This record gives sequence, structure tokens and C-alpha cells, in this order.
Amino acid sequence: MLDQEFREIYEDLILDHQQDPRNFGPMTDPTHRADGFNRSCGDLIHLSLKLDDDRIQEVKFTGSGCAISTASASLMTEALQGKTRAEAEILAKQFRELLIGSLPGDKPLTTEPVDLGDLQFLSGVKQFPIRVKCATLCWHTLEAALNRKLDGASSTE
Ligand code: ZN
Repeated sequence: MLDQEFREIYEDLILDHQQDPRNFGPMTDPTHRADGFNRSCGDLIHLSLKLDDDRIQEVKFTGSGCAISTASASLMTEALQGKTRAEAEILAKQFRELLIGSLPGDKPLTTEPVDLGDLQFLSGVKQFPIRVKCATLCWHTLEAALNRKLDGASSTE
């Protein structure tokens, strides 16, 4: 794909999801929840998940942030719909590797890579290194949420 074409898709995606974020709003009975804050930009996200057994039935977010953090969270909620916890963790890892590379302690993927779909275009943010944290904020928040089941939630771990 041409650089120009890639950049246009990137810009259209950011604009579309910023103006009309998917799955934006409160959730009445989440099983998992976490908040994320990106100090360098001021992005704030409240993420709620509803897991049934190990499958993500619903993902919603609220908060306030820049175009990139909002669009990234919106795209993430779409990508997570119906995924298992394990698939969500693989997505999070692949997305992080796409944007910032692997970390020293990372184990190589033991599974087939999943299709990132539209998420792959968020790698366009790498041309603005300071904004990479805006795009990864929601994914860090997801990993925190998956590890923090709410008291009284009926879902099993
Ligand atoms: Zn930001």
C-alpha cells in the first residue's frame, strides 16, 4: 500500500472514530473495570467490560482525551467484541508490538497472530512519537481491567 493511501486511511479513521466514538457511554453492570490516564497528554479513560465465562460480551468506555486516544479506544472496543480473554490479550500484545516493539521480558507469541483489521492503521501514529502513548492508553487500561474483576460480579475467572 502506498504511504499516501495509508495516511489517508489513518486520518479518515481517526476523524471518523473521534467524531462518532463506538461503544461510548456508561455500562450498568460491568464485571471488569479500570481507569487509565496518560499524563503526557491528559487523556483519561474509564473502561468497562462484561465477560461471560471467558468471552467479552460488551465493552464500553467514557472519559475525555485527544482525537487519537478517543479513536484508539473506539477501535479497540470494536475489535474486542466477542473475543475471549486470551484473544484480547493477544490483540493487546500485537498492537503494542506494532506501535512500540516488543519489551525485553516479552515471551514470543505462542499462538497464531490475529488479524488486527483497522487497528493496523493506527501504526500511522508512529510518525508522532509523543502521541504513541495516546494510542496505547486504552490497551494498557484493558490489561488492567482484565486483571481486576469487580467484587460481586457473577462472571467466573
Ligand atoms: Zn492524547
